[in-house]
Amino acid sequence: MPNLARRVLLAVALCTLMAAPALAMPQDCTGKLGTSRVLEVDPVGLQVGTKHFPQTLDLADKEVVLTFDDGPHPGTTPAVLKALARECVHATFFTIGRNAAAHPDLVRLILAEGHTLGHHSMTHPMTLADIPYDKAVTEIEKGFRADEKAAYGSAGVRPRVAFFRFPGFGSTPELLDYLKQRGIGVFGADFWAGDWNPMTPEEQLHLVMARLEHEHRGIILFHDTRDQTARMLPLFLAALREKGYRVVHVVPPPVQTAAAPH
Ligand SMILES: [Zn+2]
Repeated sequence: MPNLARRVLLAVALCTLMAAPALAMPQDCTGKLGTSRVLEVDPVGLQVGTKHFPQTLDLADKEVVLTFDDGPHPGTTPAVLKALARECVHATFFTIGRNAAAHPDLVRLILAEGHTLGHHSMTHPMTLADIPYDKAVTEIEKGFRADEKAAYGSAGVRPRVAFFRFPGFGSTPELLDYLKQRGIGVFGADFWAGDWNPMTPEEQLHLVMARLEHEHRGIILFHDTRDQTARMLPLFLAALREKGYRVVHVVPPPVQTAAAPH
């Protein structure tokens, strides 16, 4: 029957469309904010972000790095990813291992959309500096493994992306030394909107833009778990575009396939 045949064809076509990976559709980035450059960062000995360390990334005037902590969260992370994709910009997501294990589909979506996946401990103790050293190390390592397993299906000895951010920036010299020995780079941030405080998306936009206009560059910290941030993000990215700011995407060096010489 022609009608049935047509319906079958339509169903096949729909299934094909739905099964297509997220990046299959070419995206027109003309007139969008866009990622202006990719900055490859060696994690070994890396400690950046002036709210945590004396130094930060080598960014030019009006260059910003976007970072999102504490996800993934099904209620808000998809909206954050959509806003970033609409403006063709890439960010770094420091995920909590427990959340990654609960929502591996979202972790894989973060990767599929070309973002960098960093780590933020297993359960987000506030802070790792306030618990015994051994427990803190276990928290960090469990977080690596949970994120890795969610993202790639397996976890190696060293995370593929060796970037870590301390919850609440609560580090100790011993933990920093441990990560340094492990070859894990530590990210702080240069400023934020304080999006853990309840405020409207407009208030948050105003606050973060005022800080950005003061700092002119830097690593910006947001939380992709916050609804107010997800709603603010399209406005923020539009403001960056209007005011001539450029987004830099931080990535680790390519993964070594052969054993590295010591
Ligand atoms: Zn956090």
